[in-house]
This record gives sequence, structure tokens and C-alpha cells, in this order.
Amino acid sequence: ARNLRKCAEEVGLAMGGRFPETAEELRKLPGIGAYTSAAIAAIAFDEPIAVVDGNVERVVSRLWRIEQAMPGGKETVRGHVQAMLPHARPGDFAQAMMDLGATICSPRRPACALCPLSRSCAAAIAAVAQDYPRKEAKAQKPQRRGAAYVLVSNGAVYLEKRPDKGLLGGMAGVPTTGWTVRADGATGTAAAPVKGNWRRAGAVRHVFTHFELELEVWLLADAPKTRAPGWWARLADLQGEALPTVMKKVIESAIPGTFKSKKPERK
Ligand code: SF4
Repeated sequence: ARNLRKCAEEVGLAMGGRFPETAEELRKLPGIGAYTSAAIAAIAFDEPIAVVDGNVERVVSRLWRIEQAMPGGKETVRGHVQAMLPHARPGDFAQAMMDLGATICSPRRPACALCPLSRSCAAAIAAVAQDYPRKEAKAQKPQRRGAAYVLVSNGAVYLEKRPDKGLLGGMAGVPTTGWTVRADGATGTAAAPVKGNWRRAGAVRHVFTHFELELEVWLLADAPKTRAPGWWARLADLQGEALPTVMKKVIESAIPGTFKSKKPERK
């Protein structure tokens, strides 16, 4: 969302409201990467450029029986798509390829009998479509550890805004130890924001894109209610806070039932 806003500001202020029309120019805007820039340029401005999403990757891997494992073989896929591009209506071609992957060339049960490409599809001809795209073996993610501190006072939980830069930037959360590469592994209550009768309230595991995190959860009931720079959120209002999933898990571990959906009362 922050990138979307930055992008709007750049187009509105620095570019005089003119939206760039080529993938190369689009890619310079905040939040617009290789796929999105190509998709906008092809679909909105008919630029003959390869648009490769997961669906296209699957279709093309099967068409040519590409043996390179994905995502490493993405450039090979892109090269094939670029070579297939028609001179006319490249935007329609991009959408057709994505739709073919989304509706006919599905991951587990491709409907080859209905597919307009079946006569030239190497994987379909050899009846091995399900074996493509080849996948790289998943490397085990690094494990990180930390501690999270849930302060409760009069039915409210203390929250802070996380720093704008970094993981979960700008979102709300309870105080924690660091869990970046440099600040990994601090557990226990030595780093708790206030002293008190902290009680261990379980642990949560959460899988991020690049690592797995295990957080000890510590609870301080009847916490002193005088801490800046955060704020106190009533338990009933927590659903409305910008809490990432890992923080919801932490609070749920400390105060079970907080995020469970409540059934409407019967009259
Ligand atoms: Fe996919 Fe089958 Fe079509 Fe080949 S023939 S592209 S495997 S649906």
C-alpha cells in the first residue's frame, strides 16, 4: 500500500499525471517489478513483451518440456514466450496465455483434450504433462528465535508501531526482541519492556518467506499503564488494529479466544 501511494505521487507530481507506457519506464516506479510492468505494458499499451506469471510458466514448461527446474528456469520460459509473441494484439496474447494456464492447463489435471495447443505440446504428446514444470528441491529455511511481550491492563493490550523500515514495517505489534539476522536468538524476559511478574504463555511458530521464526510468548497481567511511544488497545478492538498474523498468533497464545470469531447472540 505504501508503494502504491509512492507510485501515485510519482506519477501525479513528478510525471505530470502521465502514466508511463513502456515496461522499461514502468519498472522504475515504486512497487512495480518485472511481471507487473510487462503485464501493464502488454495489456494496457499493446507492447510486444513477454508476460510470465506462474500460469504461463506452467504452460510453456509443458509445451517445450523444459527440464530446467523453476524458478531458476524462468529466463528460458521468458525467451520462449518472447519468441512466440504475435505482432498483432500482444495484450490479448498475454491474457490468453495466462487464462489458458488458469483454466485449462491446471497444475494437477490439465484438460489437454480441450487445449488449443495440444497438437504441439511436447508434454501432452508424451503424456507427462503433470511432471512439468520441474521444481527445485526446497531448501530448508533458516530458523530464528525471539521473545514477544504481551502487556495487559484493564482489558487492554499494549501495542507499538513497528519501525517503517524492515520486516512488517509500519504495522502494529506487541514489543519483541529482534529477530533479524543480527539480533537473532534473544529469549527470556531480560529484554522485556518493563519489570514485573512475567508468566510464560506458550510459543508460536511462523513461517516468513526467508526464514522460520519461533517466538516465546510472555504475559504480564496488571501491567503498569504508563508507557510511550505505543498505545493501549482494548481486547474488543484488536480486530481493527493493523496486526500482522504473527502478532495475532502471539496475542492469541497469551489471551486465548481473542481472535476467535464470536457467534452472534441468539435472542
Ligand atoms: Fe497444458 Fe495439456 Fe495444453 Fe499442453 S496440451 S499446454 S499440457 S493443457
